[in-house]
Amino acid sequence: MRYSKALIPTVKEVPADAEIPSHQLMLRAGVMRKIASGTYAYLPLGWRVLKKVMNIVRDEMDKAGAQEILMPAVQPMELWQQTGRNVDYGLTMAHFTDRHGRENVLAPTAEEVVTFIAANEINSYKQMPVNLYQISFKFRDEFRPRFGVLRSREFIMKDAYSFHTDNDSLHETYMVMYNTYCKIFKRCGVKYVIVEAETGEMGGSGSHQFTVPCDNGEDVIVHTEDGSYAANIEKASVDALPAIARTQNHPAVEEIHTPNKKTIAEVCDFLKTQPKDMIKTLIYINHPLVDDVKEISSYQATHKDGVGKHPPMTHWGKRFAVLVRGDFEINPEKLKCAAGESIELADEAAIKALTEAEVGFAGPVELLERNQVHKIIIDHSILTIESAITGANKTDYHIKNVVPGRDFPIAGDNVIIADVRNAVEGDTYKGQKLLFKRGIEVGQVFKLGTKYSAKLNAKFLDKDSVEKPCVMGCYGIGINRIVASAIETLYDKDGIIWPINIAPFEVIIVPAGPGEEIARASEKIYDDLTAAGVEVLLDDRDARGGVKFKDADLIGIPLRITIGAKSLAENCAEVKLRRESEVNKIPMADVKEKVLRIIAKLKGECA
Ligand code: ATP
Ligand code: MG
Repeated sequence: MRYSKALIPTVKEVPADAEIPSHQLMLRAGVMRKIASGTYAYLPLGWRVLKKVMNIVRDEMDKAGAQEILMPAVQPMELWQQTGRNVDYGLTMAHFTDRHGRENVLAPTAEEVVTFIAANEINSYKQMPVNLYQISFKFRDEFRPRFGVLRSREFIMKDAYSFHTDNDSLHETYMVMYNTYCKIFKRCGVKYVIVEAETGEMGGSGSHQFTVPCDNGEDVIVHTEDGSYAANIEKASVDALPAIARTQNHPAVEEIHTPNKKTIAEVCDFLKTQPKDMIKTLIYINHPLVDDVKEISSYQATHKDGVGKHPPMTHWGKRFAVLVRGDFEINPEKLKCAAGESIELADEAAIKALTEAEVGFAGPVELLERNQVHKIIIDHSILTIESAITGANKTDYHIKNVVPGRDFPIAGDNVIIADVRNAVEGDTYKGQKLLFKRGIEVGQVFKLGTKYSAKLNAKFLDKDSVEKPCVMGCYGIGINRIVASAIETLYDKDGIIWPINIAPFEVIIVPAGPGEEIARASEKIYDDLTAAGVEVLLDDRDARGGVKFKDADLIGIPLRITIGAKSLAENCAEVKLRRESEVNKIPMADVKEKVLRIIAKLKGECA
């Protein structure tokens, strides 16, 4: 490719709304352009990189025995109603009514559709195991798209779904996918760690996440010092803090006036106390009891800010009070496990209705007794408290001397004691200190079990002539996130440093200076390398050497060959790796061999 003919609109200035290096550099290097919030167009360089990533993914998936298919981007809402995930995905799922009044979903993922296919096409144990995958656009109306393509609204995902007769067969394919993912990320040149993960909206019994450690990642990963345990923060277990032995002699509960002091910090400041001496009480509700999607849609339409995605209280199911010590945060995923069902934070109206107070004054005392909640979920940390301050269920009031077990139950049918908080610095797991890192989730594998097949009737006749639901696994990779995380892992002040296998071009030739001779020598190397199968960008623009060097560095081509008057006088070219500062003078006759050797070496590092 000739630079003079290519659309590579590089820019010097750092774009104002790009916060992190990958986002800034993808814009500056002319890799992509923003079209709207969370929506990007890939220009020629960017599309070349994406295609390379997709080719690696496709190659490894094919080698692993998976079969490529293509499913529609617009899916019938009915399928989502059958699994109930229209509610789980909430506002993240974009949907529209077509001219015939049918409700459609813009695919955020494809479990429903692929299970629908399996329900129709797989009916015997003889057809399994089978692993189907696609590489296609997904749409998620993310509440807060940010960091360029790391969290965009439209993105390319490789999603694979496997179908099995039993759990053993699922485990086998799960491990094949796990190992395939290792190969994919290695070939793409991104360093990754594998952590245990929660199954989230996917459901199922087991999951691992592939995460690229980097300071700008949105995920937090937690691991023990010896690496024997690694999980993401949503999953990371902690040892329970030692519970205290209770003494009986505490003064009675006493109301205190705390006007307008709603947060733990405000109350602590006002009462000169510490978060660890407070009980945080949060109200959660389970799914709304409506499955009429129109009703939910119209409710959502009036709550576009993402808050309060459930319909009014008349439709509610179960209500929960969740207690955690004031210095800890609730972990929604652990909470879901403890509750045994999907529950979500109640909105302002619901909290007011239940506690009969403004938000910020909820407390556990008498909530259960007065049937305001069905269950209390108590984090282990509460058992370390002798006596605490908490909300009084009365606007502008808190209560002190609240003793767990005396003033609210810590045992009984409607009480669940569990680990429902986030791990923090200082926590241990199985006695080992936990360490924290940030990272970008680039892929995830799940054991789904029969969650989807049971609901969508994907059954098969087994060897024993018994009809059973298919056992499923699913495996996702964010193609765009691989690109951004490769940049986040390796860049410098001058620009991107692409890993060789996903670089838009492997080599850039820079004729540095005017004159026929330089141009001719450059063309010759260009032709030789291109003929040898190397992907070369020839910077044939009528521009100064300095400008060309700057652009070459910014767009991050792994290998640069410079032809300048000085080296050409010695019949040499200068060869430089983007990631190193050293420049090597190579006789013209050897350039091709030398470059091929370097490329082979770079590729070897990613094999
Ligand atoms: P996250 O927790 O970051 O929102 P997720 O766990 O919901 O992601 P999955 O449903 O597991 O995502 O999707 C598979 C892969 O798709 C993810 O591992 C990630 O790489 C990618 N992905 C998900 N959401 C986005 C997004 N908004 N922008 C870009 N890539 C995404
Ligand atoms: Mg995920």
